[in-house]
Amino acid sequence: MATDTLTGPTIMGTATRTRVFKNFIDGEWVESSTGETFEDRNPADTRDVVGIFQKSGKPDVDAAIDAAKRAFAKWRLVPAPKRAEIVYRAGEMLMERKEEYSRDMTREMGKIIKETRGDVQEAIDTAYYMAGEGRRMFGPTTPSELPNKFAMAVRQPLGVCAMITPWNFPMAIPSWKLLPAIVCGNTCVIKPAQDTPLSTFNLVRTLSDAGVPKGVINIVSGFGSRIGAPLMEHPEVRAISLTGSTDVGRIVGTTAAKSFKHCSLELGGKNPMIVLDDANLDLAIDGGLWGGFGTTGQRCTATSRIIVQKGIYSEFVERYVERAKALKVGNGLDETVEMGPAVNEAQLKTDLDYVQIGQSEGAKMKCGGHRLDKGDYQYGWFLEPTVFIDVDPKMRIAQEEIFGPVVSIIPCDSLESAIEIANNIEYGLSSALYTKDVNKAFTAMRDLHAGITYINAPTIGAEVHLPFGGVKATGNGHREGGFGAIDFYTEWKSIYVDYSDKLQKAQIDRVD
Ligand code: NAD
Repeated sequence: MATDTLTGPTIMGTATRTRVFKNFIDGEWVESSTGETFEDRNPADTRDVVGIFQKSGKPDVDAAIDAAKRAFAKWRLVPAPKRAEIVYRAGEMLMERKEEYSRDMTREMGKIIKETRGDVQEAIDTAYYMAGEGRRMFGPTTPSELPNKFAMAVRQPLGVCAMITPWNFPMAIPSWKLLPAIVCGNTCVIKPAQDTPLSTFNLVRTLSDAGVPKGVINIVSGFGSRIGAPLMEHPEVRAISLTGSTDVGRIVGTTAAKSFKHCSLELGGKNPMIVLDDANLDLAIDGGLWGGFGTTGQRCTATSRIIVQKGIYSEFVERYVERAKALKVGNGLDETVEMGPAVNEAQLKTDLDYVQIGQSEGAKMKCGGHRLDKGDYQYGWFLEPTVFIDVDPKMRIAQEEIFGPVVSIIPCDSLESAIEIANNIEYGLSSALYTKDVNKAFTAMRDLHAGITYINAPTIGAEVHLPFGGVKATGNGHREGGFGAIDFYTEWKSIYVDYSDKLQKAQIDRVD
């Protein structure tokens, strides 16, 4: 899969081994047709080149789709429980490789090691769940309106599926797509995010080692601007699954619609956490810090807005800011570090731009807001944990997805006004409420307009066996995770078996 070369860049003057990764097409590791490559660098220390990857072009995409099409002819006929056994085996192998892959992931995207272990675990959990689906995939049998006639509906695979993934969950999100797709009998071409291809390569390599036949999963690395279109427009692709920004979702959705491809879009978020006067404050502060600064705020489900009732507002703000200031920022491979860097320079710039925007809008910045660039920080893209208070819900920092460690705290009068603030937004992915009042909790569960609601927990922490996704600009109505994924990667076929030995006409042969 990868070859080592000693000609890579150096860290502190010492030559390092730089691994060169090829595309995986039809069971072979192959160079891209373009002859071009790109580097995957560690955002905590940009001297560290994690790997060199192929900068692919249309011919590579076409070759991968071709291989997937040929593989589909056989793979769809492998019994689903057998397909699922391979996925189960991959789960076992991921468990053995968990530490190695977690470290690779921290190096390539900066998330702290505890969290990258969670990311790999999510792929393992998905493997075990989807392995079970191989023996379920139930369809209904139902009485026919005619005598001696049998009726049922079965799930069928779609064919070649294209997957385009983001960098923030570089193994978990590809696993949400690849594993249900192949258990259902589809074949796949995946394009990982250019910031984090290695983790997806590690997943695909494991699936191949576990016995997934050649051509069933193909990986083509490169840039969305170049290989996104050939992947989406190819007539042999029957389904596209994108997780990414709302802007890219719009492009993918409209492209897919032109050729009636199935299309699943999991997009941006601006997630509210409401803290009412009666909340357990210790719990809410712990949750708000974890939700706001986990993955450096770079989760689609990040707690980027905290809406706090006025009775406890001052105390919440004081204690929250104190704790945010104390978070240890650094290289995520250090077990004591609590927050890593931004994923790349462009994201850090976006974060700093929003710091400016928040200040110019009149929000009070209570902590953070500065790039950390002294000492060990100088080689990475680090920002201090940043908290704005007294934020007006209409301000841009409270409306737009920043995707960084920038939290807005918004005061509110009541549960009703908090829900109104929470819902008055373009997105609708995750939401949370802290209260001890069961009536208020159930009101919020009903009225928060989002795909996910947590009670007494922050907006992050989804489990793999429940549907995952959002409403409004967060998606187009599909769900990943659990049975939601099986719905996307299969098509219903209704089957009627007439054993009456005569022509029977539905709706016509009847006694009124
Ligand atoms: P992005 O939209 O920039 O990129 C996502 C993927 O799309 C990448 O692989 C990229 O190469 C590709 N892409 C870019 N331009 C393309 C084009 N024109 N055609 C086809 N593909 C193209 O997003 P990102 O920066 O990688 O990830 C962050 C975004 O993802 C955030 O908005 C975040 O909220 C969202 N996200 C959503 C979920 C969810 O489940 N709702 C989960 C994680 C991340």
